Amino acid sequence: MDHLLLRTVIAVSLIAVAAVLIGLIFGAVWGWASFSGGVLLLLLHHVRHVDLLIDWLKRPTPGQVPDGRGIWDYVFALLHRFERAQTRQRQQIARTLARFRQAGRAHPDGVVILDADNRIEWCNDTAESHLDLNVETDAGQPVTNLVRQPEFVAYVESGDFARPMELRAPRGAGVVLSVQIIPYGDAQKLLLSRDVTRLEKLETMRRDFVANVSHELRTPLTVLSGFLETIKELQLDPKRSRDYLNLMAEQSKRMQRIVDDLLTLSTLESAPEPSLGDRIRVAPLLDRLRAEAEALSGGKHRIVLDAEPGFDLLGSENEIASAFGNLATNAIRYTPAGGEVRLTWRATADGAEFAVEDSGLGIATEHIPRLTERFYRVDRGRSRETGGTGLGLAIVKHVLTRHQATLEIISEHGKGSRFAARFPARRAVRVVAAAAGASHAG
Ligand code: ADP
Repeated sequence: MDHLLLRTVIAVSLIAVAAVLIGLIFGAVWGWASFSGGVLLLLLHHVRHVDLLIDWLKRPTPGQVPDGRGIWDYVFALLHRFERAQTRQRQQIARTLARFRQAGRAHPDGVVILDADNRIEWCNDTAESHLDLNVETDAGQPVTNLVRQPEFVAYVESGDFARPMELRAPRGAGVVLSVQIIPYGDAQKLLLSRDVTRLEKLETMRRDFVANVSHELRTPLTVLSGFLETIKELQLDPKRSRDYLNLMAEQSKRMQRIVDDLLTLSTLESAPEPSLGDRIRVAPLLDRLRAEAEALSGGKHRIVLDAEPGFDLLGSENEIASAFGNLATNAIRYTPAGGEVRLTWRATADGAEFAVEDSGLGIATEHIPRLTERFYRVDRGRSRETGGTGLGLAIVKHVLTRHQATLEIISEHGKGSRFAARFPARRAVRVVAAAAGASHAG
């Protein structure tokens, strides 16, 4: 301002001096006319620049501040500097906002920003897929118009957001969401949604498992306590008492087997992965397996062992012996007398395979995918009669998974079954010489 005043005073003074000189030479009239003309030109100069300034202010295009002359050059330079600082600030804010949006988008949970009237301001991709929203078309709409489940609407309108609520996802059958609203700022709300389908499934499995274990143990326990009552209340002859005691022993053995299998499963769940450094000598293990199968069969089945020599396994001998044993025992138990059970061990293109084939009862196709579930049995009666717990194949599956192996079940109802454990190359080793070192197969 000081500059403008000073420059204007100097300019007017120069015009006045020039006008006085002209007045002295050409007369007072010319002097006054020159002074008036000079001041008028000065005025026009300023009016023109003010015009330029007004034009720019009407549409302040960044980078197009007008050029000026004299004092206006300085004014426009200041304006230009101010405008550049503003642009930088705006870009900075836009970058920060974009970073926040990116962070919100990358968030594994669904995030929806709601205004005071529960209208959607913004949401990330996860929320779009969880709640079937579209940020482009749904922004500005009340969320309760788009997610209409009554329990959700009641939750949003209740104003009590201390706990999350569970919601079936509008799209995607079977998907369960945990939804929570977090109020913040000026009556705004953050709506978070998380896919809890897996947790929900695990919780259902846990509940089913506890119910199954209780049921499995309750049956022998009820029988046991019934016999105990009978023996206590009635005067039984020694033979009857012995019969009852034998039945009681049978029931307690059954409970013992269930508890043992449950403990095996829980140990498998918590133990570290079987080491690749421990070699399992497969040939003697298979010989023992055949002897056990023959003992269990009691000569009622033809048992064949067909083992390709020269291959061993890396892992836990106890676990593998228990898994192979379970498969062989099942084959005997589910094959009527006179049938055949074949145990095979061979190298495959991508590792090694142990298989048990039987000519027994076979399994209807619809049961096959569920056989490794805990306590799943096709024929409950036969399983119980032959001392089954319903946990054998669950243990097998667990042991194989821990050895990165898979279980393949092929079966035809009434014809027989084939259970094959397939090991990857890194778990199978070639035995170079009887007592010498070993190298990886495959
Ligand atoms: P279980 O103790 O009842 O034998 P498993 O987990 O070992 O429990 O097996 C689950 C079910 O799979 C069995 O109850 C049986 O119905 C079926 N099963 C297993 N192995 C065979 C087989 N070799 N032949 C026919 N059915 C079988």
